[in-house]
Amino acid sequence: MDWSLLGCGAGGHVTFAPDEPGLRDRLAVATPEGQTWRCLRCGTFVIGQPTVSGPAASAPRVRRAEQVRSALILRIFAVERFIRALIFAALAIAVWRFSVSRLSLEKAYNQALPPLKALLTDFGFSVQHSKLLGLIHEAFTANSRALGWIAVGLGAYAVIELIEGVGLWLVKRWGEYFAMIVTSLGLPYEIYELANKVTVLRVVAFVINLGLVLYLMLTKRLFGVRGGKAAYEAKLRSESILDAEIAALAAEQQGEPGRHAKPVPGGEPGPATESPRNWPRPASPSSPPQSRAPPRNRPRPASPSSPPPKRHKPP
Ligand SMILES: [Zn+2]
Repeated sequence: MDWSLLGCGAGGHVTFAPDEPGLRDRLAVATPEGQTWRCLRCGTFVIGQPTVSGPAASAPRVRRAEQVRSALILRIFAVERFIRALIFAALAIAVWRFSVSRLSLEKAYNQALPPLKALLTDFGFSVQHSKLLGLIHEAFTANSRALGWIAVGLGAYAVIELIEGVGLWLVKRWGEYFAMIVTSLGLPYEIYELANKVTVLRVVAFVINLGLVLYLMLTKRLFGVRGGKAAYEAKLRSESILDAEIAALAAEQQGEPGRHAKPVPGGEPGPATESPRNWPRPASPSSPPQSRAPPRNRPRPASPSSPPPKRHKPP
């Protein structure tokens, strides 16, 4: 599956016009339909104004290929975290209500969010069987002052899950670290709960969390795994279209000494003595077309002169 194209389908193409003339030349192609700019994600040449322009250093960092898939996976985890945050916020409210109204915990919980309770029951989660809530219940009867603190604790956990969800949704490195640490810390408790009683919800939660920890550690190379941050960023650079063009331009200029000292005026296309690695220009028939991308990505010049195919008529 072409994840880059999928990303462009969902978020639109990201075209970029760098200020540097040589680089600009590599990312733009004039066609009879108009000026086209290369999408930094899927590599397609897109007709129209560039999405962003400026110096190459300010170019948007776009997720490509596997990074698009990775972002999708992290966002699925993020949604699960948001649901968790909601559940624990509801529990916090239930405990707080219990502390002020002296209803039974079940009643307070039922009143907090009836639809949520129905959903959780479907998953096999019940207030009566939860070890955590059982402990809370014991704490209530033992010490009523503890109630407020338990509500605060549940609320804090809801906030932590919310932060985790936001960090994962935004696909930030801090979010990945935060999610991995918090989730790892929760795993021993989940094993304890599973050892106590196996329910569908607990197994699912445990598998999700263990999967997230392993996924983050291995694919995001956290804590120095598989080369750590340096290897991770090197991989990102190796997948970047812009970085590849910058490297190709540098190699080209090294091959042609003196060329880089000659500025191209006014963003005009460079001299026709381009290396054959360059994108084929419809205007210069001398340079043989050489594809750097699948043919479907290449802008096709209009050919109004070509006659329509003849159809054989039966006699
Ligand atoms: Zn695109």
